[in-house]
Amino acid sequence: MILSSRPAINLDHNATTIIDPRVAQATHEAATTLIGNPSSQHALGQAAAAAIEQARQQAADALGASPREVIFTGGATEANNLALLGLWAANEVAGAPRRTIIVGATEHSAVLEPAKVLADRGVRVLEVAVLRDGRVDLDQLAELIDDDTLLVSIMLANNETGVLHPLDAVVELAHARGALVHTDAAQAPGRIPVDFADLGVDLMSVSGHKMYGPRGVGALLLDRYARVPGGASLLEPLIHGGGQERGLRPGTYNTAGIVGFGTAATLLSEHLTEAANVAARRDRLAAALEARLAGVSVNGARAPRLPNTLNVRFEGADAEAVLAGLPLLACSTGSACSSGTPHPSHVLTSMGLSAAEASECVRLSLAGATSDGEIDAAVDMLIDAVSHVRSSITLDVQ
Ligand code: PLP
Repeated sequence: MILSSRPAINLDHNATTIIDPRVAQATHEAATTLIGNPSSQHALGQAAAAAIEQARQQAADALGASPREVIFTGGATEANNLALLGLWAANEVAGAPRRTIIVGATEHSAVLEPAKVLADRGVRVLEVAVLRDGRVDLDQLAELIDDDTLLVSIMLANNETGVLHPLDAVVELAHARGALVHTDAAQAPGRIPVDFADLGVDLMSVSGHKMYGPRGVGALLLDRYARVPGGASLLEPLIHGGGQERGLRPGTYNTAGIVGFGTAATLLSEHLTEAANVAARRDRLAAALEARLAGVSVNGARAPRLPNTLNVRFEGADAEAVLAGLPLLACSTGSACSSGTPHPSHVLTSMGLSAAEASECVRLSLAGATSDGEIDAAVDMLIDAVSHVRSSITLDVQ
């Protein structure tokens, strides 16, 4: 038996969402009934293959794409890696007519790290700054993009602050110079409307476990008409094996995970109906903290944001110490992947906070089901924890 020590309140839904019971059921059913390998020609295999194609259609319908444009992956990290490294490989096949890639300063490590790999291989990788409100600096982007730009990768919604980037303007600037656009949309589906065709990007990454689906499954969406400049394809595979996912992501299908992903996609519109209530609760949380504590500020407050995300600075209170005083509240100091490391959040320092200021920030992220009672209890817990850290600092210096 697995024992879980479950904090009383979960405000860390940007780290991972709780799987919707309907998704859990569909995943379980698929795991127990779809027993064939989807690549097998016999009836057991074909039943599993049909379920995968249904999930592809569900994902496409929910995300504004055509089924042909959906490549299933093991999550958004893999989708981002395939987008950046696979696109570069296709560019090389085409003779590498363009040699520059631009990434946003506040991207997730799942974009920044593959970009670093490319830089180590000699690719010209540029980082575009964000403004103090967290949104990409479009003036700087306009200066950076030129006829050598192969790809611009800017996330749709930031995982730490919830800030939404003006992707329509990014797409306009990039496409005007013949550059392609990738967006890491992992945090967006179910929180804001996400329509691949409307966004006009060429590639988009999504993740099952950020949208009430299973972990370890996601997708890279590819514009079916997009190609690297002068090339015949958009991507080259990063791993090699069988022909699954048109050879772009070979390996035996994760049937149950993909079925769960498809089911989660069908529920996105339902989650969107919760967005206004979620935003109201998030704003009530912020207002209560600001009213009852001095020295509270919200990062990215002036930008359009995801409805569920609050990144808040408690002046003079180290966030790790605050979290240590919150055993019954799940929240974080930054992205789950980078918390635990001593580095201040690159997202917050890119927005102009000093390292010391960034180390005083806590991310609180709500789900559709977060209740008023949970918000009230979280406010009390946060106020106690912050006050305690502040008073112990005062005692230390006396
Ligand atoms: N991109 C963003 C913006 C994220 O927030 C995350 C997860 O924290 C990822 C990518 C990684 O997604 P996955 O866990 O599906 O690999």
